[in-house]
Amino acid sequence: MESQSYIPGLKPADPGPLSRFIPPLEEGVVSTWLSHHTSTSSWLLDPFGFSPKLVLEAARAGYRVLVTVNNPITRFLVEMAASPPTESDFKAALADLAVVKKGDERLESHLQSLYLTTCEKCGHEVFAQYFLWHKGDEAPFAKNYECKECGDSGERLVTPEDVERAKRIAATDGLHRSRAFERVVALHDDDRSYAEEAIQHYLPRPLYALTTVINRLDSLNLSVDRRRALTALILAACDAGNTLWAHPSERPRPKQLSTPNQFREYNMWIQLERGLSLWMETASSVPCVAWPNKLPETGGICIYEGRLKDLAHEVKKEIPIAAVIGSVPRPNQAFWTLSALWAGWLWGSDAVEPFKIALRRRRYDWAWNATALNAAFVHLFDLLALGTLFFGLLPEAEPAFLTSALMAADAAGFNLKSLALRTEHDPIQILWERGEHLKHDVEKPDVEIVRKEIESHLTERCEPASYLHIHAAGLIALAEAHSMKPSNMEFDEALRSTQAMIEVVLKENSEFIHYSTGGSVDTGLWGLHLNADLSPHSESLADSVEVAVVTFLQKNPESIYLEIEEDLYPRCTGLMTPSKGLIYAVLNSYAEKSGANWKLRAEDVASARRAELKKIDELIKSIGVRLKYKIKQDGKFLIWEENGQPVRAFNVLASALVGRALTEISYPPEKTMLVIPGGRAALVAYKEQRDPALAERLKVYRLIKYRLVRALSELPILTRETFEEQIASDPVEQSKGQMMMF
Ligand SMILES: [Zn+2]
Repeated sequence: MESQSYIPGLKPADPGPLSRFIPPLEEGVVSTWLSHHTSTSSWLLDPFGFSPKLVLEAARAGYRVLVTVNNPITRFLVEMAASPPTESDFKAALADLAVVKKGDERLESHLQSLYLTTCEKCGHEVFAQYFLWHKGDEAPFAKNYECKECGDSGERLVTPEDVERAKRIAATDGLHRSRAFERVVALHDDDRSYAEEAIQHYLPRPLYALTTVINRLDSLNLSVDRRRALTALILAACDAGNTLWAHPSERPRPKQLSTPNQFREYNMWIQLERGLSLWMETASSVPCVAWPNKLPETGGICIYEGRLKDLAHEVKKEIPIAAVIGSVPRPNQAFWTLSALWAGWLWGSDAVEPFKIALRRRRYDWAWNATALNAAFVHLFDLLALGTLFFGLLPEAEPAFLTSALMAADAAGFNLKSLALRTEHDPIQILWERGEHLKHDVEKPDVEIVRKEIESHLTERCEPASYLHIHAAGLIALAEAHSMKPSNMEFDEALRSTQAMIEVVLKENSEFIHYSTGGSVDTGLWGLHLNADLSPHSESLADSVEVAVVTFLQKNPESIYLEIEEDLYPRCTGLMTPSKGLIYAVLNSYAEKSGANWKLRAEDVASARRAELKKIDELIKSIGVRLKYKIKQDGKFLIWEENGQPVRAFNVLASALVGRALTEISYPPEKTMLVIPGGRAALVAYKEQRDPALAERLKVYRLIKYRLVRALSELPILTRETFEEQIASDPVEQSKGQMMMF
C-alpha cells in the first residue's frame, strides 16, 4: 500500500448551521488533495452528499461536483451553501416575520412573551434565553437570562410564575401537536406512530412557537430568496427547539433520539435571530443546478436528488467522473429522523415521502451501515472507469465504523490505496481505487497477516498506540489481502469475525502489552514488549516529531502552524501521523508565537543552545572537581569517578529526546543522571504521559534541570552530602500546564 501523508486543514472558523449533525471536517483538505490528483473543471462525484462544505469547497476550487442527496434537509443545506440569500434578504425575511399579526400582537412580541420571566435581582421583566428541564418533568427547574436593567445574568431557579407559564402552554399542546404530525404524515399513514414518537422530542412551548412560525411561512408573500432565507432561519430554530440539548454539555453530537436527563429549552425567537449569524455566508457563491442541467467549466454543484442506483447508468453515458470525493456516512438515527420531521414541517408531506424510511427505521447498526455502504460502492463500481480514485473522509472514527467502510469498499471491488490516521478525533483520510472486475472467491482471512501488520506498525512507531491505530493496521492487512469479507458471509457476521480476529491476535500473542485500566481491548494503549528484535536505535514517534519540528524551525525561523504540519506529515505518513497535541507540546517547549508565526526561543536557537550545553558541561565538571572526583568523558557521558569506579554518569541533553537517551545508557540507573533544560521538563512530562512504556523505563532514572546545576555551582560550601540533598529535593515537576493527551 502507498503511504499517503495526512493532509492538514483548518478548523472552520464558523461551524455553521446544524453543525452538530454535519460531519466535522477540516477546511482545505479536499481542495489540496484534488489539486494533486485532478485538473480543475473536471467532474467529481460525491455519492453520499453528507457534507455541504465538502462539495462547496471542491466547487469553489474550480471543479464540477455532482452530488447525490436523498435527505431533503441535506439537499437544502447544499443549496444554501452554494448560493446563500443575501444578508439583506435574511434581515428582511426576519423583519417581515416579526411584524406579522398574531391576534392584536406582533408575532415577535407574542413569541417572546412565551419566555417572559422576572429578574431575580431587580424584579424587571426579562426574556429567558433558555430554561433547564429534568427529563419527564412538567415544568422547568431553572432559567437563564441577561437583565438589561441591572446587568444580572446567568442561571437562576424558576419562580412559580415560570412554572405556571410553562403549564399554560402545555394545556393547549394537543392541537398544535396533531397539526405538527399532519404536516409530516397523513392521518391514516402507517408511519404516523413513528412521527408521533419523533415529535415527543419537542416540548409544548417550542412546538407551539415553531408551528406558529411555520404557518406564517406559508401565508407570508415573500420573494423566492426571502422565503429561502426564512426557511433557513426556521430550520435552525427547529434544531434548537428539540430536547436533544444536554446541559451541561461538552461537544454534543447526538446520534440517537433520546432526551438527556437534564436539558435546555431554548427561546425560539432568540434562536430565529441567532440564525442570522449562523447562516450568513460572506464568501462568493458557486453555480448550483439540479441534474441533468449542466454546469459551466469554471465549476459548481449539480444536485441529483435521489439514489445513486438510479443515477448510475445516466452518468456513465453523460459525463466522465475524474474522481470521487465524500464524507463516509455513519448511522445517525437522530439526524435522519429529525430530517424527515423537519422536511414535513417546512415543505409538506410530499417532501418527506422519499425519505420517510428514516422515520420507520429504529435501529441503524454497523451491519446496516456496511450493507448500505456496500450497495453504494457497488453502484459506484459500475459508474466509474478502472483506476478512478476515491478520496474518502471518515470523521468521528471508531473501530467498527472503519471496519464497516473498508469492508464495504473491498467487497465491491475497490482497492485500498492508502489510509492516513491522526487521532480518533480527526477524520481518517482514505484513498480507494476502482479495481478490476475480478470476482475472486475470498478466502477465510489469515490471522498471521494481521499479527504481522500490527507488530510492524508498533515496531515502526516505537511507542504504544491507541486501539484505533492497532485496529486500522489489522484492517489494512486484511484489505491488502482482499480477505475482509469471505464470500459466504453476510456483513454482520464478517464484521463480528474481523473484530474477534483482531482481539484474538492481541490477546493471544505475548509480544503485545495492553496499557489499560479498563480491560476491554479497545481501551487504553497497546505496545510491544521490548525484545532483541527491536532495534535499539529506532526512535519513537514522539522523538522523531521533536527532531523534525525543531529542524524545520531552525531552517524556517518564522512559520505558521500549517507550514509545520505540511513539512512534518510527509515524514510521518499513514498511521504514523502525529497528533496536534504532540506538535503543540514540542512547539510550546522550543518556540514562541508572535501573531500567527512560530519562532524558536532565543535560548533554543542552535548556537545558543550549544553554548549553554557546553556551559552546563563545564559546571558539572567543576562541581565534580570540588567534590574531589576524577572527571572522565565516555562518549556523551560525563563521568565522576572514584577509585577507578564511576560514581555518577551525566548525560546533558539540549532536547527532550529521553527515549533516545535511554537507549544509550550503559551505567546503572542509580548512578545515571539526565540533565535537561528547564524548558524541556513539560515536554518530557507530556511524553511520559502519552507513552506508559517510556514512563516505566524513565522511572528508575533521575532527571535534573540545568537550573539545579547552576544553583549547585554557586553554593559557597558544597559537600557530597549537600549535593545528594539538593538533587533529591528538586524533582522535575510534572507540568500542570494545558496539556492535550495524544
Ligand atoms: Zn435585573
